[in-house]
Amino acid sequence: MATVIFHPAEYGYGTLRTTISGLLTRIGSLRIEPGAKILIKPNFLAPAKPERAMTTHPLVVRAVVEYVLQRGAVPLVADSPGMGTFERLLREGGYSEALNGLDVELRPFRESIQVDIGEPFGRIAIAREAVEADAVINLPKLKTHAMMMLTLGVKNLFGCVVGLTKVQWHMRSGVNRHLFARLLVQICRVVHPTVTLMDGVLGMEGQGPGRSGTPRRLGLLVAGASAPAVDMAVCRLLQVPADDLPTHRAAAELGLAPRDVAISGDFKPVMDFKLPVLGPLTFGPGLIQPFIRKHFVQRPVVEAGKCRMCGECWRHCPAKAIAPHASVIVFDYDRCIRCYCCVEMCPHGALAAVETGPGKALRRLCASRDRIVQRTRRKRAHCRDGRRIDFEG
Ligand code: SF4
Ligand code: SF4
Repeated sequence: MATVIFHPAEYGYGTLRTTISGLLTRIGSLRIEPGAKILIKPNFLAPAKPERAMTTHPLVVRAVVEYVLQRGAVPLVADSPGMGTFERLLREGGYSEALNGLDVELRPFRESIQVDIGEPFGRIAIAREAVEADAVINLPKLKTHAMMMLTLGVKNLFGCVVGLTKVQWHMRSGVNRHLFARLLVQICRVVHPTVTLMDGVLGMEGQGPGRSGTPRRLGLLVAGASAPAVDMAVCRLLQVPADDLPTHRAAAELGLAPRDVAISGDFKPVMDFKLPVLGPLTFGPGLIQPFIRKHFVQRPVVEAGKCRMCGECWRHCPAKAIAPHASVIVFDYDRCIRCYCCVEMCPHGALAAVETGPGKALRRLCASRDRIVQRTRRKRAHCRDGRRIDFEG
């Protein structure tokens, strides 16, 4: 059974470095030979200060770089940020300062190679540095995600798909959350991180993973040799059934998710973690799906007072469903595939995924129907003489 370790942590560097060194050693999957090329893959979503909780904390990255350097290996810290320049990301995110003086290269992925990740996707372009490294250390941030519920260990590796290719893959898997989850899992399988160390010291809840999310202090690092196992353990931490996490379901179907995880360390369930509202991206018979999507599925909405017309959203929209119009942006909800990339990218927190009126009414209707069904089942579960009958159904 895969083991996942939970360890309390803060961002004070002395203790953090000792904790991370201990965790990486204890996990045991990372055997670093002198001279080995080690890719360190943080979550570098966008330029943002560490207190926004959008990116892996710079001191977590520093502690891992030091661990690699102490073993005589060659670390490379790289990612393919969704927006902004890499220089700005390093400056604003505190990485330039945190890694100052260490013998480490920090840069965006430069080159892709075609790798067969399996059906139904076939060959896709993945960062050469990720495929050719002797070991990959995966450093996700514990955050919510408006489309995929949570962005954890498996999802973090989507950053190994470089630049605009990411946008194309969003478009191709589009409204199909399950297909997108499969894509993420199959990328994870190919990149095959040796260890996943998740920064949950300051995580994010609500409408993540960008500025619309709310930082949430959890005071934890989570580590394991298997990214799907770490994700499964985090679901347990947050009291989310693992099957509700699309990447876990996809990993289970592909035989990559463990049946169970052995949890070690300081594990205290978080009872009140706020997840995003995760409506279907579309549903119903094929012919009426565009109608359903337009009127019932939650959609990106702009808060005009916050929008600065910077253009990040329309530049990154894979469906070309956003256009500037005078001093506002306008969505074409017929084209929008509900990938929520725009919500993720907006540097000013002006976008949110919002339920439509009919969608909310339908959700409430379904919830009250479920409550009635459950009540009826509970009543049936007691026979007349008061004996309890287990009801399956
Ligand atoms: S919604 Fe956000 S990303 Fe789009 S133009 Fe406005 S500020 Fe920029
Ligand atoms: S408008 Fe936003 S949610 Fe819709 S397709 Fe474009 S990026 Fe995705």
